[in-house]
Amino acid sequence: MEFRELGKTHESVPVVGMGTWKMGTGSQEELTNQLHALRRGLDLGMTLIDTAEIYGNGKAEELVANAIKGKRESIFVATKVWSEHLHYDDVIRACRGSLERLGTAYVDLYQVHWPNPQVPVRETMRAMERLVAQGKTRYIGVSNFNVKQLQDAQDSLAKVELASNQVEYSLLSRSAEREVIPYCEKQKITVIAYSPLARGRIPGSKIPAILLKRYSMTAAQIMLNWVTANKQVIAIPKASRVDHVEENAKSVQIRLESDDFSLLSRLFV
Ligand code: NAP
Repeated sequence: MEFRELGKTHESVPVVGMGTWKMGTGSQEELTNQLHALRRGLDLGMTLIDTAEIYGNGKAEELVANAIKGKRESIFVATKVWSEHLHYDDVIRACRGSLERLGTAYVDLYQVHWPNPQVPVRETMRAMERLVAQGKTRYIGVSNFNVKQLQDAQDSLAKVELASNQVEYSLLSRSAEREVIPYCEKQKITVIAYSPLARGRIPGSKIPAILLKRYSMTAAQIMLNWVTANKQVIAIPKASRVDHVEENAKSVQIRLESDDFSLLSRLFV
């Protein structure tokens, strides 16, 4: 697995981690498969897991707790506080709930899931910094923030630098390229690409067969390779199947040549 620095933290995180939206719920068999998939991914080096208090109403965090049992220190756990919980006391309470469900004393990255214009970002960031001071999160991130919101969040932080912004980004969803990614590149904020496989709507027939052959990659692997070509970007595909996880873990073993990267960028513009 390839690793990159998270923001300016000197912390290395895998270029391909694992998402958990829509996990933690389902039949016993489905839950067992999800657990196996996460554990297999960890074994293959996808040691960043992204979750959120809202996913499965806390059930995804409980699944993550199970997956990381016995190896917490070697895993980078990222979770998110929901946009209705952004007042100071609510952030502190939400984090406590996430830590309990995750069965851990700290998370590595605590992210604001969505901005909420009703709550001053200064108040939210004060709480986030308090959590850092208390050792409950190591780093602070945001998600779905535009450039102005990123600037306001950065200006609101007194001692800690914003490490990441999680946004939708894939071959099929390119709007982050206009402003957010260039800004994050300049500021050294890591872009965590969510839905990098377009939520499973993988455009297999639109990816030139010659590329699949040249790199011996599947369409999903090409998508993950393409989305992480930018050094400021890491991706968090979600997979509840072990074979999908194995495929995703191998997606960045080799890199697309720049001509092929450009060809794909043009085809999906
Ligand atoms: P995604 O990762 O783009 O796609 C997930 C879908 O792709 C699932 O149906 C999965 O199937 C399938 N898949 C995975 N690997 C595959 C492979 N190698 N070949 C074929 N299909 C494959 O979508 P996502 O779940 O929306 O996004 C990923 C993560 O980003 C989420 O889980 C969540 O952690 C985060 N996210 C964050 C936000 C936010 O607002 N911050 C919003 C959305 C998502 P199986 O499950 O059957 O394996």
